[in-house]
This record gives sequence, C-alpha cells and structure tokens, in this order.
Amino acid sequence: MRAPIVAGNWKMFGSVAMAKNLAEALVAEQFSGDVDVVVCPPFPYITTVANAVQGSTVGLGAQNVYPESEGAYTGEVAPAMLKDCGCSHVIVGHSERRALFAETNEMVGRKVIAALNAGLTPILCVGETAEQRKRDETFKVIDAMIQAVNAQLGGRNWSDLIVAYEPVWAIGTGLTASPEQAQEVHRHIRDLIRSERLDEADAVRILYGGSVKPGNAKDLFGQPDIDGGLIGGASLKADDFAAICHAAVKV
Ligand code: PEP
Repeated sequence: MRAPIVAGNWKMFGSVAMAKNLAEALVAEQFSGDVDVVVCPPFPYITTVANAVQGSTVGLGAQNVYPESEGAYTGEVAPAMLKDCGCSHVIVGHSERRALFAETNEMVGRKVIAALNAGLTPILCVGETAEQRKRDETFKVIDAMIQAVNAQLGGRNWSDLIVAYEPVWAIGTGLTASPEQAQEVHRHIRDLIRSERLDEADAVRILYGGSVKPGNAKDLFGQPDIDGGLIGGASLKADDFAAICHAAVKV
C-alpha cells in the first residue's frame, strides 16, 4: 500500500516569526506515521523551519530548485544546498513557475533529475488550464509533462518521485476538481507510467492539489489513485492543514 503524503506549499507568504510558529504548531500535532507530512516554506525560512521540525515527523521541502550543482546562476539554489539545509523534498514544475517564469517541460525534467541525483524527492506538478480542459486536451497536456520527465529518467525509478496533479483552474480559485474528475486523471497518470515502466506505477504516489480544504479533503483522498495532497492556501493555517493531513490517513 502507498503511504499517504500531504505537502504544504507556503508560496511567497510569511515571515520568520510566522514560519517558526506554523512549523511548531504542526510539530505539536504529533502526526503518526500513517501520513507523511511535509512543509515547503520560502527559501529564506528553510533553516528556521528545519530547526523547528528537527526530530519530529514533519518533513521539510523547498518550492523550487535549479538543475546545476553550483556556478554563476545569480539568485538560484542548487539541489545539494537544499539537502544541506535539511530538505528532503522539492516542488518542481508548479504551474505558477511554468506560467510566470516560463519553465518548459524540458527544464522541469532537468530539475527532477538534478533533485533525484542530490537525494531529494521531487514533487512533480502537472495539470491543465481551464482552456485546455475545455478543448478536451487535459490528457494530452499531462502526457507531454510526464513524458518529458520520463525521457530524462534513465535508470531512475518513478517511485522515487511524487507526482502532484494540480488542475491550474483549481489552484487558489476555490474551485476544486470533483473526486471523480481528479480520480480520472490520477488513474490516467498511473496508467501512463505503467505503459512506460510497468513495475513502478503502483508504487508512485500521486497527490491532488487545487483548493483542498478540510471540508473536501476526505472525499478526494478516498479515491483509489489519490495518495494525498499538495496544499497551498490552507497550508498556511495550522488547524486547517492538520485537519487535511489527518484526512489523508487511510482507514
Ligand atoms: C498549490 O499552490 O499548489 C495549491 C494547490 O494551491 P491551493 O491549495 O491554494 O489551491
């Protein structure tokens, strides 16, 4: 059985004090081993959160990474630096980065490989826009995103990654894919991975992201191919995020 995981994407919000308080509140929840919990603060607060979650069951991730080990890349952060600061996970290819910072599928693939090579678990985000869904291109768009990573994966294993299906139209909008809509795409992603890498598909954890709240988490996470969530807005409130994490525990 795949262990459920819930990751919080704090985006560009907060302060040192807020990051410390939020991380400490989550540590106090004492999450059982039945759900993996990861928080992804902004870069400047990673060390603050690393200190707060040390020795707890709350894991630490980053929101982005650059696919080179070092060099003249002003403003960028290398995978080994994240590892050095205590990160175990990194979000790659979030739709905001694809849309606002022109990240291509090829670049996202390079980031995934660089993260894996540094011993980080990439959380690979894929998803369609509202227009693409209307044009019935959801699978085509997602396939291209997955194939671009698959093409660079070489001997690495899909189950060393986490995939997050995040329909762009559901991110930060209050609109959520219905559990059936989300399940349909999650199943499709798993089948696609199966068609490429037969034995790895059942082990890959596929998260849903897009306006997950305490009130809708249980129904979404109850779907057979949904293994938890990537949470934006609701991850900034300790009570809401904790409730969502508890909702991911398989019964
Ligand atoms: C996200 O940014 O990854 C996300 C899912 O945001 P929200 O939960 O706010 O829709």
